Amino acid sequence: MRNWFNRLFAGRQGMDELSKLLFWAGLAGLLLSGLLVRLSQGLASLLSWLGLLAVLLAFFRAFSRQLPRRDAENLVYLRWLDGRRRAYAAWRERRRQSRDFRFFKCPGCGAMLRVPRGKGKVHIKCKCGYTLYRKT
Ligand SMILES: [Zn+2]
Repeated sequence: MRNWFNRLFAGRQGMDELSKLLFWAGLAGLLLSGLLVRLSQGLASLLSWLGLLAVLLAFFRAFSRQLPRRDAENLVYLRWLDGRRRAYAAWRERRRQSRDFRFFKCPGCGAMLRVPRGKGKVHIKCKCGYTLYRKT
């Protein structure tokens, strides 16, 4: 069985992270469309088409022999995922510190600036040279 499975995917991409996401998201979309069909026929039909498309795309990618292309797609997805994970971790950290600090996003460079709470209105100088005037 294992041998047969290995031979099936020889020289092919197989289920990488992106295909797994497409497969499960597609399946979830199909299931959800079944539940939504009473609520909104249009939305349910759209969701089932998208779900089907995602599942088919997952299989197409799994059986593809164009490994460099599929690897590149997967890498884009993994980088995006990593970015989301970092952003979420940073957001949780800011929430944890939110009792003692306020956070401002620098309009100049987008960096997150941390200032202690309860100091009234202060000038906050960013590393990039931008100065904000905010209430703490
Ligand atoms: Zn800045």
